[in-house]
Amino acid sequence: MILLGDTSKPDECPKCGDAVWRDSADVGVGIIYGPAGCPSCGWSEDKQYDMSEGSSKANAEDSERWTDQFGVSHHKERVRENLQNLGIDLDPFNGDDPDETTE
Ligand SMILES: [Zn+2]
Repeated sequence: MILLGDTSKPDECPKCGDAVWRDSADVGVGIIYGPAGCPSCGWSEDKQYDMSEGSSKANAEDSERWTDQFGVSHHKERVRENLQNLGIDLDPFNGDDPDETTE
């Protein structure tokens, strides 16, 4: 098995201390690893995808796609549909902040 790219990653998020994750893809001859990211605060080891201070550089342009802290590009409409299917009434791309909901 050939491991492509940097396989080392921090165990904990340097911003909030939660466990970090990373995506990987088996391409037949080996496994390609994406950047490590934090599912809690949005930190990414790749500055282009770091969302811990707000929107990342990868999402600077208005687009139909959104890139997460793991470097994975998602179609915004699919994200909205998935949230609705989970019973979550939230549009994450129109400025709604789930932390600012008023009861
Ligand atoms: Zn974090």
